[in-house]
Amino acid sequence: IHYFINGNVKPPCPLPKGPSIREHCKDLVLTDDQLRELMSKLLAAINKGLNKDTNKDAIVKCFPTYVQDLPNGQEKGKFLALDLGGTNFRVLIIYLEQNHFKMESKVYSIPQDIMTGSGTQLFDHIAKCLADFMRDNDVASERLPLGFTFSFPLTQIGLTKGLLAQWTKGFSCSGVQGEDVVRLLEEALARRGDVQIEVCAILNDTTGCLMSCAWKNRHCRVGIICGTGCNACYVEKSENVTTFPNDSGKPYCIINTEWGAMGDGGALDFILTEYDKQVDSASINQGKQLFEKMISGMYMGEIVRLALQKFTKQGLLFNGQGSEQLFTKGSFLTKYVSEIESEPKGTHTICLSVLAGLGLPHASEQDAINVRYVCECVSRRGAHLVSAGAACLINKMDFDHVTVAVDGSVYRFHPHFMI
Ligand code: BGC
Ligand code: MG
Repeated sequence: IHYFINGNVKPPCPLPKGPSIREHCKDLVLTDDQLRELMSKLLAAINKGLNKDTNKDAIVKCFPTYVQDLPNGQEKGKFLALDLGGTNFRVLIIYLEQNHFKMESKVYSIPQDIMTGSGTQLFDHIAKCLADFMRDNDVASERLPLGFTFSFPLTQIGLTKGLLAQWTKGFSCSGVQGEDVVRLLEEALARRGDVQIEVCAILNDTTGCLMSCAWKNRHCRVGIICGTGCNACYVEKSENVTTFPNDSGKPYCIINTEWGAMGDGGALDFILTEYDKQVDSASINQGKQLFEKMISGMYMGEIVRLALQKFTKQGLLFNGQGSEQLFTKGSFLTKYVSEIESEPKGTHTICLSVLAGLGLPHASEQDAINVRYVCECVSRRGAHLVSAGAACLINKMDFDHVTVAVDGSVYRFHPHFMI
């Protein structure tokens, strides 16, 4: 981030050297000029989203969140929270006291058939998990305020009302797009009739990330998620957001950029690789979320696998001998990228055991070095794209000091995605 704003730091990408596989990875290594071009395209896309005259055709929608105040650390109370849209679905209860908090949470699975089933099934499932959780935590008879972190693009009409613009990240439940998801949750709870809650906010995970960091850090103005999906929100001057009625007259509003959609109109064509195009065409939301697909955990392992598959077929890896698993979509998990890159350089134990697990027990040390290099190119490219995006937001805001809050599974589990 510092580099893109100030320059004068060591170039981020090591030059390709050594075995020829490095030459073949060149299209995965972004130059400074490309990243700067991305920054200016992203800025233009954001400005288009913020303006009511151009928002309709904007790719980066910049949804106003109706969140116009940051916490001051003095908040108190007992709250429920739902977190839907990442690797896990979670229900939480949070006890906030001045300067500290206590929290209990439970992870529930969202089975694949529910992710792609009907909206009614999805919300009935969520309501059941919430009711079970409230019972387990002895609060089933209380009427508690609930914050609903719903990590998808949402056209908000208020703090407690938001219409799903479109599903992302493998969700495709029917009958939800265009609907108020708070109402769908309330209706599912009413169908059960066994618990009472009061939804006090619906928010994006980026907003939740920014808010929870701002609780302790008064300079926090940007929230970034690098997890199953990728997105950012930031604090914008209300006067710059002509799509927002700003009935409160407050000077700032948090904008959920939904930058994951960047490129859906062709703006990223200058850096898309054949792997990115393949990932997109095999996805359930073709032509959508192209920036996200270059970065986030749902796709990172698959980008690596597609490169490995190609290099194997070219005879550059594994003596040209692949395996059924290596040639199967989804077999190279994103967590393998993290595991392989966590190993000290020069040792290949983890890498070779991942490869053995993929039906490649005869992989050589040089294969391991090359596989690690492919992983590094893909994860580093993702990190550079995110930092160019963050730099774009920081430059856009005129604050002297900006803290960026970051969360998400890629950020947490990759050994050096962002630090
Ligand atoms: C969603 C965003 C979300 C991000 C990270 C994207 O797919 O569209 O709303 O913030 O994933 O979870
Ligand atoms: Mg999450």
